[in-house]
Amino acid sequence: MTGNFVKVKCKDCSNELIVFVKATTTVKCDACGATITKPSGGNAKIFGEKTDLE
Ligand SMILES: [Zn+2]
Repeated sequence: MTGNFVKVKCKDCSNELIVFVKATTTVKCDACGATITKPSGGNAKIFGEKTDLE
């Protein structure tokens, strides 16, 4: 891992997903469908609790 990915915990259901910090598509929670990231030009806007990967 090079810091380009983060673990994000869904704010609605606590499901955890690994997402690319510069994702250019909207990423939704696998479990409940809540929006996890939205593209915002540079780094994606991340909704939920973000944890950096080692
Ligand atoms: Zn969820």
